[in-house]
Parts: sequence; structure tokens; C-alpha cells
Amino acid sequence: MIEQSSIESLKSSMDIVDVVGNYIELKKAGANYKANCPFHGEKTPSFVVSPSKQIYHCFGCGVGGDAIKFVMETEHINYPEAIEKLASMYNFSLHYTQGSSDYSEAKRVLEVTQKWYSHGLSQSPVSQEYLRGRAIAQHSIEEFGVGFVPDGQQVMDYLQSQHIPLPQAVEAGVLARGEDDRYYARLSQRITFPIYSPNGALVGFGGRTISNHPAKYINSPQTKLFNKSRLLYGYHRAKERIYKQKEIIICEGYLDVIMFHQAGFRTAVATLGTALTEEHLPLLRKGEPKVILAYDGDKAGVAAALKAAKILGSHGFEGGVVLFPGGQDPADLIAAGESERVAALLREAAPLIPFVLEHIAAAYDTANPNQKELAFGEMKTYLSSLSPIVKDAYTPTAATILGVSAALFGAGRDNSQVKREFAEHETKEDPEWQSILKTLIETPSLIDDVMDVLSDDMLGAYAPLLGSIVGNDMTHPGVMGLSVNAQIPVLTQEELRRALLKQLEIYYLRKFKQALADKNLSFEKKVYIRNKIQKDIIPKLKRGELVPYESNIII
Ligand code: ZN
Repeated sequence: MIEQSSIESLKSSMDIVDVVGNYIELKKAGANYKANCPFHGEKTPSFVVSPSKQIYHCFGCGVGGDAIKFVMETEHINYPEAIEKLASMYNFSLHYTQGSSDYSEAKRVLEVTQKWYSHGLSQSPVSQEYLRGRAIAQHSIEEFGVGFVPDGQQVMDYLQSQHIPLPQAVEAGVLARGEDDRYYARLSQRITFPIYSPNGALVGFGGRTISNHPAKYINSPQTKLFNKSRLLYGYHRAKERIYKQKEIIICEGYLDVIMFHQAGFRTAVATLGTALTEEHLPLLRKGEPKVILAYDGDKAGVAAALKAAKILGSHGFEGGVVLFPGGQDPADLIAAGESERVAALLREAAPLIPFVLEHIAAAYDTANPNQKELAFGEMKTYLSSLSPIVKDAYTPTAATILGVSAALFGAGRDNSQVKREFAEHETKEDPEWQSILKTLIETPSLIDDVMDVLSDDMLGAYAPLLGSIVGNDMTHPGVMGLSVNAQIPVLTQEELRRALLKQLEIYYLRKFKQALADKNLSFEKKVYIRNKIQKDIIPKLKRGELVPYESNIII
């Protein structure tokens, strides 16, 4: 079992905005962050994350909770698993009351392996030679922990000499188990690149062959610790600069990243042997940097850049594309001492959306009307994937590139898509009761003063919330909703009193009218209610006295 104190210190060391931001793209909205809810399909964001309360809440479907709950629900895992997942993300060592867990063991296996790989490089003149040939400096090798893994049997021997059970090494992604049930090393005869989570926890390895193996690069498999489709190589080293410079460079490979950093471009990262996908966007969104795609100018590089630029553009990212000319990759240019030229190319990056539009057009022979029609169709589809305002801004560019009238793209017809603001969700609600309840959440000491004047009957749909607030149960979705909704004010004690007087007066006048109109009510009861409300309650309220609730008013 994980020690409770350990869970508490993990909780206090993590931030819900950061945790949720690893899974979905969050956008700042006042004191909170907003997103489209990952738990129900929606197009206007009603999912809110509150850094001050450390909770999330969806106004659309009512889900809510803390960072641990979010990870449980998103990953479909239980409480201890979510704790361990978070601990691995934050490179946090949990303490266990007895024994240990798969996670802490996998982490230990990776760390032991990394030390050994790193030592392996000093024993391998061939790989040192290779790295020198790529102009990788010794200090970069150390900074990025570049290593070397000799043949597979040596990996097994080493792990056994360290008393690491082989199934644990499989769990960590260092070994694999073949169809014949025999263990084998996943990486052998390769230069190794340790891969870290954004918070600096070692989660896996990438390996480049030095023996002309047909698979140039191999990565660790997907493990409990390692989700390669969301991670970016080098991110934990680049993170601070990315936040500071509001820029991130995405390049194609591990060596490119290392060379960029070596040449002083310290915001460089790379995807882990995959194309950029929407899964990378939450991490890219952090710190709201401009995204520069720095890809090779060859056919594969251009295709990858186009795909990435389309995704980034349609998700509202700012940024640009640099294609390195003549089949050179950025690492080659930097190795050839042309860092200045690289800097100039980065400065002149082609903005994302015009880049996409140009490349769509370039794929067709637009002198041919039929081809032009196809290019037009593709551009139009792409433009409609953009937000209406961005679409509007780039429609003239598209028209110019294709040599057609902007009107053909149907400029300005998409206004129905303009997103409704989050505040509109609240217009059907009763803001008075909401601020009264929110005040009670924020200032629980006031609850006792008002408890005896309120009733479920007055609060209508808000009655269950009052019950939760009084019971100090802050996990009720409605309570969390109020708590994170920055539009609802917290009242002072005096404002609360006045708001209550007003609400009580509205309530009792309504009861009075209802009583008179109620055919099932006896004459005596009607007289009683009328006298009670008209001659007792209302005058007291007018004098500013909060009247205790009496259940015999209920009809
Ligand atoms: Zn939702």
C-alpha cells in the first residue's frame, strides 16, 4: 500500500492545470482554464479547471474532481494506479507501507539500465566515432545521457547481475518476451537516447542502429510509464526556455534536437519516431508558445510538415514552417558551422496557414481548370476547419494563391459557428441563489447564521447543493461548479444578509399568492398563511430581520 503521507505530499507537489494539461488543451479564461470537455462531446468549452481550488468541473455533463480523479476517469484506472501514474509523471518517489510496486520497480529498472547504457558508450569506439562524425560534442552526450547498448546477451547478463527479475525488465520496456517465451533485449547494438517525461522522469529509450539494421530507430514499447504518442523528445530540457521565449522548435529526430541545443537553440524537441498528431497538442499548448516546424526539405519532410502545419493551424496555434534546403537536415547545417543560417531560416519561417494553402495549390496543376477545381475544393475544406475569424482572415490569401475571387470561398457565411461564450451557460440559472451558495462555500463560518432561515423549498433546484455545503461535501458537481465559476461573486456578510432578505421576500410573496390560489387549501389555512406572511414575515423582512423558517408555511 502507498503511505497516505506520501500521497499527500505528491498531491501538494502537483498542479491540476499541469496534470489536466497533459491530456487536453487548456486555454486561460480569467482566473481559470477552459477546454472542450473530454468526457462528453461538445463544441463550446464548458469544462473548467481551477488552479486556486485544484479541481476541474464540467458545466455540461457535471463531472468534476481533483487531479487524481481526472487521471482515474481519463485513463480508466483505479485510485492507486492513478497515484502511481502521477508519481511517475512528476518523478516523485512514493513510499509504500509494505513491499513495493510495479511502478517503482520499473522506474528502478530504467534508471539502472540508463547508467549502464551510458557507461556502454565509453566502451564503444565505433559509436563514439559515429557521434563525432555527426559533430555531437562530449558535453551534449553527457547532457542528453546518450549511451550505447552492446549485444542482447550482455543486457540480460547485466540485469541479472543487478538482481533485476526479467519480468520487471519487460514491464519497464527494456526486455521483451518472444513467442517461444524466451526473453530478449529490445535494443541491441544501438546508440541509446533516454526519453524523459515533461517533468523529468525517465520513461523509456530510443535507439539508433550503428550496424545498418533496417530499422534505423527503435523506441521503447508503450508501457505504463511510457506513452510515446504524447511525449516529445527533449521537452523536459527545453521546457523552461519554451515558457520564457514563447517558442518551441519541433524537429524530426533525436540528433537534430541535440544539435539544435548544442548550437544554442534550446527550445528544440522532436516527436518520438511518429508524425505530429493531435495527441501532442496538449503538451505543445503549455506556455502558449509559437510552434516552429523545422523539417528536412525532402519529400518525406515536406509531407510531414504539411500534415503538422494543418493540425496546428486548425487548432489555432501560431507558428511557422522551415524546410531545410537541399535535402539537408538542421543537424547537418549546424555541424557544418552554419548556425547563423539556421537562425535566419527560423526567423523567416513561413506562417502555418499560408504554408498549408501554398502547398495544397502546389500539388495541383492550377493552369488546368479541372485541377484548379480540385485544389479549390481542398483549400475550401481546409479553410472550413479553421475558426470563423481565422478563416475570414486567410480567405483572401487562398483566393490570391489560386487566382480566384474570394467570394467563391463563401467568406463570412459561417457566423453561426461563432462560439457562444461560456457565460451564456449561466443565463438560465438564478444568479442570486448562486452567489448566496457560493458565499457559503467560500465562507463556511456564515452557514450557521443563515441555516435556520433557509429551506429546500426556497432553493428549488439548488436544494441538494445546500445539503452538500452544510454537510461540507465539496465533491457535489454543482458545488464544484459554483466554486470554480469566476462569474459568480462571493458576497460580504452584509451583502449576504441583503441578498437573503430579497430572496426571502420573493419567496414569501410567491407562497402568499400560491396559497390564495390553491383550491385544495382550507379557508382557515389560507387565513393563517396570509396573516403570517403579510402581518409578520414581510414587515420583519422589510425591517432587515432574517426570519427563521417555519415548516407550516409549506403548502
Ligand atoms: Zn462534460
